[in-house]
Amino acid sequence: MAASTQSSSALREKYEPVIGLEVHVQLLTQTKVFCGCSTQFGAPPNTNVCPVCLGLPGALPVLNKRAVQFAVLAAQALNCQVRETSIFARKNYFYPDLPKGYQISQFDKPLAEHGYIEIAQASGLKKIGITRLHMEEDAGKSIHDGLADSGRYTSIDLNRSGTPLVEIVSEPDMRSADEAFEYLTLLKEIILYTGVSDCNMEEGSLRCDANVSVRPRGQEKFGTKTEIKNVNSFRFIREAIEYEIDRQIEVIEAGEKIQQETRLYNAQEGRTYSMRSKEQAHDYRYFPEPDLLPLVADARLQETIRKTLPELPETRRKRMVGDYGITEYDARVLTVSKTLADQFEEAAKAARNPKRVANLVQSELMGRLKAKGLEIEQSPISMKGVAMSADLVESGAISSKILKDLYDKAFASGEDFPAVYEREKPEQITDTVALEKIIDEVIAASPKQVEQYRAGKTTIIGFFVGQIMKASKGRAQPELVNELLKKKLQ
Ligand code: ADP
Ligand code: MG
Ligand code: ZN
Repeated sequence: MAASTQSSSALREKYEPVIGLEVHVQLLTQTKVFCGCSTQFGAPPNTNVCPVCLGLPGALPVLNKRAVQFAVLAAQALNCQVRETSIFARKNYFYPDLPKGYQISQFDKPLAEHGYIEIAQASGLKKIGITRLHMEEDAGKSIHDGLADSGRYTSIDLNRSGTPLVEIVSEPDMRSADEAFEYLTLLKEIILYTGVSDCNMEEGSLRCDANVSVRPRGQEKFGTKTEIKNVNSFRFIREAIEYEIDRQIEVIEAGEKIQQETRLYNAQEGRTYSMRSKEQAHDYRYFPEPDLLPLVADARLQETIRKTLPELPETRRKRMVGDYGITEYDARVLTVSKTLADQFEEAAKAARNPKRVANLVQSELMGRLKAKGLEIEQSPISMKGVAMSADLVESGAISSKILKDLYDKAFASGEDFPAVYEREKPEQITDTVALEKIIDEVIAASPKQVEQYRAGKTTIIGFFVGQIMKASKGRAQPELVNELLKKKLQ
C-alpha cells in the first residue's frame, strides 16, 4: 500500500474523512418481488425465470406482499419513518443483465426515511443517520469467467433478475473506516435479528458501496466524493476506505483535485482503481412505474408489522445485563448472533449461576470453536452441556481444570458434554465411613453455618453440600451426602 505508507499520521490529522454507505440487502422471500419465480440461490442458470422477470413485452408486475412486510419490518428496526404511500419508479439504464432496460426501484417517494443506527464509541453512542430505505428489484448476473474460450464470451444468468432488495442509504455521518465497519456490523446484526435477510455476503445477499471524501479539519463543506463498489467483505470495505482516504489526501496535497468517480477495490493489491468517471455517470431518467399502483402501508399495516418486530440486539443486551448479572462486554459477545444469544439465554436460565455460564461460553467454548473454525451451531457442546458443566463447577463437583479437560475431550470426539462427563467423571465415593469423615470435617469448620441451620435456615444445606463436594474433589455421591448430612446436622 504505497499510499498509506507515504501519508503520515500528521496528514491524517490535517484531514477529516467523511463516509456514507449504500447497502443492498436481499429479502428472504420464497418468490421474486414482481412474479412467482423462485429466489433459490444456486439453481441452474436461467431456470427460475418467467416473462415478467425476463422483461418480455406485455408482461405485468404484481407486487409480492411478503417482500413489502419484510421491507417495512427492516425499516422499523432501523428506526425509520415509513411512508403511508410510496411510489415505484423506473430507473433506466442499458446493461446486458437488465432485460427490461430499466430496474423497478423507488425514487422521490421511497418506502422509508429518517432512520438511524447507534454505534458505540469511546465517548459514548453516536447516531449514524439513515437517509432512506427503499424497495427495488435486483438485476441478473453477468458471468465473465469459467468458459473454455475464457475472455471471449460473457454469459447471462437471469435467475437473480427480480429478486427483492431493499437499499439502505446512510447519511454522510461516518468519520473513519472503523466507524463504517461498526455501522455495517450493527446493520447486519439488526437485519439478521429481524430475519428478513440472511445477509450472506458470499451469495450477494448483502452488498455495500462506500462513498468517501476528505476535507481539511474544521472546514464545513464536504470534499468531492468517490464511490467504491462491489467489495465483498466488511474487512475489505474497511481496508478499501483506509486506502481511499490516504489516496485522496495525497491527491489534494499534490495540489490536484479529486475526480468524482466510481472506483473498484482490488483486495489482493490492497488498492482502488477508477472504474468510471462522473462524465460517464448514469442519467437514469427516473419516472413513475405505470404498471404498479402506489404502495400503501397505512398505520394499521405498520402497527401489525411492528408487533412482529423481535427484541433488537441493543435492547436485548441491556436486558441481559440486568437478567443475568453479566457485564456489558459479556452481553456484546453473547449477542453477536441471535442463535448464540438464544442459546446462551436457554443455558443461563437452566443454570444456577448465569454469570458462570457467560464466562464459560467466552473462555472455554468460543476459543475452541474458533480454533476449529466452527460456528456456534456446529458446536459439539450444546448450551445444555455448558449449563451442566457450569453447575458442576459451581457445586464443586469438578474443578476448572477437569472442566477444561472434559471440553477438550468433547471437541476431540465431537460428543456433547453430558456424554463425555458420564464416561470420564471421577469415580464416586459411596463408602459411608469415608464420607462421614469428610462431612464431620466440614461441619467442624463451619460453626456459624451450623448455627444458622439449626436456627431454621435449612436452605444453607447447599453450602455444606458444596463444601463436601469440593473436599471430595467432586467424588462424593450426592444422594448419600444429603442423607448423612441431614442426620449429622440435626
Ligand atoms: P449520488 O447522487 O452521487 O448517488 P447521494 O447524495 O445519493 O449521491 O449520496 C449517496 C451516498 O453518498 C450517501 O450514502 C451519502 O451519505 C454519501 N455521500 C454524499 N456526499 C458525500 C461526501 N461528500 N462524502 C462522503 N459521502 C457522501
Ligand atoms: Mg445515490
Ligand atoms: Zn419470474
